[in-house]
Amino acid sequence: MTYPSKLIGTPELAACAMATVRKWQADTRVEQFCPICSAPGVKIVDKSSRPHMSWYEFTCQACGLHEAVAVPTGAHTTDHDS
Ligand SMILES: [Zn+2]
Repeated sequence: MTYPSKLIGTPELAACAMATVRKWQADTRVEQFCPICSAPGVKIVDKSSRPHMSWYEFTCQACGLHEAVAVPTGAHTTDHDS
């Protein structure tokens, strides 16, 4: 049993993955590119389960990426909600 190494392990890659999610949300029919290896045809699955944070699972055949990234929901961030 091997522990899967984290491919999306830097803030830069996480930002890239989030940008990919945003593009995917704009039109889910458009093919997106892997944030790790830039290969086309990366699969994104909405795994959302929290009110202020969404999880999107990336699957890439080319580099073996299979990882979920957290994306804050909403167009703008609010630090205080009252
Ligand atoms: Zn890839």
